[in-house]
Amino acid sequence: MSTSGFVYNGRATRVVFGSGSRVHLERELLALGVKRALVLCSPEQHALGASLAEQLGSRSADLFDRAAMHVPIELALEARTVAASTNADCILAVGGGSAIGLAKAIALESSLPVLAVPTTYAGSEMTPIYGLTEAGLKRTGTDIRVLPKTVIYDPDLTLTLPVGMSVTSGINAIAHAAEGLYSRDANPLTSLMAEEGITALSRSLPNIVANPGDRSARADALYGSWLCGAVLGSVGMALHHKLCHTLGGSFNLPHAPTHTIVLPHALAYNAEAAPDAMKRIARAVGHENAAQGLFELARANGAPVALKEIGMREDQLDQAADISCSNAYWNPRPLERDAIRALLQRAFEGSAPS
Ligand code: NAD
Repeated sequence: MSTSGFVYNGRATRVVFGSGSRVHLERELLALGVKRALVLCSPEQHALGASLAEQLGSRSADLFDRAAMHVPIELALEARTVAASTNADCILAVGGGSAIGLAKAIALESSLPVLAVPTTYAGSEMTPIYGLTEAGLKRTGTDIRVLPKTVIYDPDLTLTLPVGMSVTSGINAIAHAAEGLYSRDANPLTSLMAEEGITALSRSLPNIVANPGDRSARADALYGSWLCGAVLGSVGMALHHKLCHTLGGSFNLPHAPTHTIVLPHALAYNAEAAPDAMKRIARAVGHENAAQGLFELARANGAPVALKEIGMREDQLDQAADISCSNAYWNPRPLERDAIRALLQRAFEGSAPS
């Protein structure tokens, strides 16, 4: 990547960041020019969704608390009907990528503006990317209508994110920035955000593990996840995201742990083809080697490092390699089926990246 010429896709999202910033919900609705929000959350976060709906009072149209991973189409259809029947003029999603993904599914058809209050580090709130799952197949697309108009980052809402999920969700965010650094569309701005995002997350995750109630570490991690999400929203991804999409979509592996396990191996695969990106990632994680540094970050903080620990079977690795190579897509190093199969074997066993 050079400064000789590039395209930068700035995404127009208003960001309100800070401890306690959820108090500004009503102000932010009015600033958007809307009046009544349909509040979305997952069943596990019903209490939080209900408290935001209560805070909004008459500006809450209803609470829909059944958001689920990968947005099943039946759920999207039901939520769209609820949005239409309550006459909501915006969607307020509180939670992780699942709640925000459901809001995007509604916005895709209705063009209702989305306001997001993220409580994980997945980064969906910063992207125009949506996903819908129909008959077991997850389809993703990009549409600027689904990009949230306003994001309220309140680190206090992440204090309840269990330590294990904090680490894997944080490394999921790092994956966006790492692939953004060697993206075909990489540009000086997204690379700045990517390096800063990885630095903030690799600095804060060990502090969160040591003390999950450390508010400044929580704020630092959420700041990092914002930057990493913004990178995902601006530039194209490569092999790592394709592998994780395959493992999640075809083998039902959990999203953030899969990213955590695969990332060091995908980076090792691309290392020689993307030396500048590797230098920046290594510098951000404070290790001499990018792949090794991220492997250590996961291991030292108690995250899973082997696909066999999270439900993958060894006899599925061939098929995973085939699917990952089936559609041509850009990657700094050409897709080599045997080398990708070997990468998956190492990720399966939890061996060090090489
Ligand atoms: P998630 O939203 O499914 O959340 C996982 C679980 O953690 C849920 O039960 C949720 O209620 C709970 N949770 C969330 N925040 C919590 C908190 N602060 N305290 C306690 N519990 C909390 O998980 P995720 O990893 O955030 O999102 C994964 C989904 O998002 C996947 O479907 C993925 O494909 C999608 N995603 C999409 C994009 C995009 O740009 N479109 C980007 C990243 C992820």
